[in-house]
Amino acid sequence: MIVKPKVRGFICTTAHAKGCAAEVKAQIEYVKAQPHSNEGPKKVLVVGASMGYGLASRIAAAYSFGAATIGVIFDKPAMRSRTATSGWYNTAAFEKSAQADGLYAKTINGDAYSKEIKDKTIELIKSDLGKVDCVIYSLAAPRRTTADGTLYSSVLKTVGSSYTNKTINLKDNTVGDITVDPATEEEIEATIKVMGGEDWKDWIDALKAADAIEDNAVTVAYSYIGPEITHPMYADGSIGKAKDHLFETSKKLNESGNVRAYISVNKALVTQSSAAIPIVPLYISILYKVMKENNVHEGCIEQMTRLLNEKLYGKDGVVTDSEGRIRMDDLEMQPEIQEKVNKLWEEINTDNLDTHADLDGFHKDFYKLFGFGIDGVDYEADIDPDVEIPSVN
Ligand code: NAD
Repeated sequence: MIVKPKVRGFICTTAHAKGCAAEVKAQIEYVKAQPHSNEGPKKVLVVGASMGYGLASRIAAAYSFGAATIGVIFDKPAMRSRTATSGWYNTAAFEKSAQADGLYAKTINGDAYSKEIKDKTIELIKSDLGKVDCVIYSLAAPRRTTADGTLYSSVLKTVGSSYTNKTINLKDNTVGDITVDPATEEEIEATIKVMGGEDWKDWIDALKAADAIEDNAVTVAYSYIGPEITHPMYADGSIGKAKDHLFETSKKLNESGNVRAYISVNKALVTQSSAAIPIVPLYISILYKVMKENNVHEGCIEQMTRLLNEKLYGKDGVVTDSEGRIRMDDLEMQPEIQEKVNKLWEEINTDNLDTHADLDGFHKDFYKLFGFGIDGVDYEADIDPDVEIPSVN
């Protein structure tokens, strides 16, 4: 099969097996080349491990510290004329590399929100690892079905009043205004159910109840704050309410004892999830330009390698801000970076997009998520889309 990208809105419905494998290999090589001590977690559970920050966390843990990893993913294998999802190909490539390098790596594929998948994962931990010493929670999901069968859908809306600002139309690369309407109370509650901390706590409680987590284990979940232009849409919007709940959950988990729970505030990056948020992709394109020009740009793998090696398990212990959050957005939020971004934001329009934003970088990263546009991959070659994840049947 010759696989080409088929983009529909904010997602690509095809994925390239060889391209995804090449990208995973590049991330592994990056981590291997970084200095690291052996002082890190050894048995790591990553929930939401197939793409973006979760995949990078898994790779960074395995190749920085030789950690055994269990990943929970929600991906589809290839079927007839359809390719697998990129998360499937990423996971297959990671497991194969890890196993070839003598590292334990197994995966559970299914809905991480469900009790069934929690039970399956805990059974695997108990039989293969005994207990985990680190749990990374990196889910980004549009919906969640709770134990009583209720389906909750998250929304990306403001809270209180509507907000108008610039956005980019990625189909034709034009800049125009968009007005984002406020979420209803019900929509806010639903977004908190999906993206807040309830399920993170359910995972930790289930691991504790099954005696499958070490005393004093570390657990981390990911958040975002960003600059003021994105606040109505993000930090103060419906997703921000869910992130507030995630942060409150970290405090509750700490109070309940036995685990050390943290929120890591990560950098804005192109992932399948962030591409769907109004206003944010234009901000990311400008941010990429400014951060690259200032030589401080990082992708998911650079962020997660730095998180684990310097801010969570580094020589200075856990490095947090005054509120107890780990700040991986430190470089993004530097005043000189934000001043430049703000100035470009004020001026940007369709005519000057090329000079004011790194649109090319945005598009390249977007296609890369699905294994396209990667150097050294022959996209005209006939490939077999049917790829196995060794531990998933
Ligand atoms: P992503 O879309 O790249 O990854 C999300 C992962 O969750 C995927 O592997 C997906 O398969 C998995 N997933 C979704 N639903 C699932 C389910 N029901 N069961 C099992 N797995 C499921 O997203 P991302 O951007 O890496 O986001 C991860 C976390 O990082 C989120 O909490 C997000 O808010 C946060 N974050 C993202 C950014 C950003 O700019 N991308 C910045 C800061 C924080």
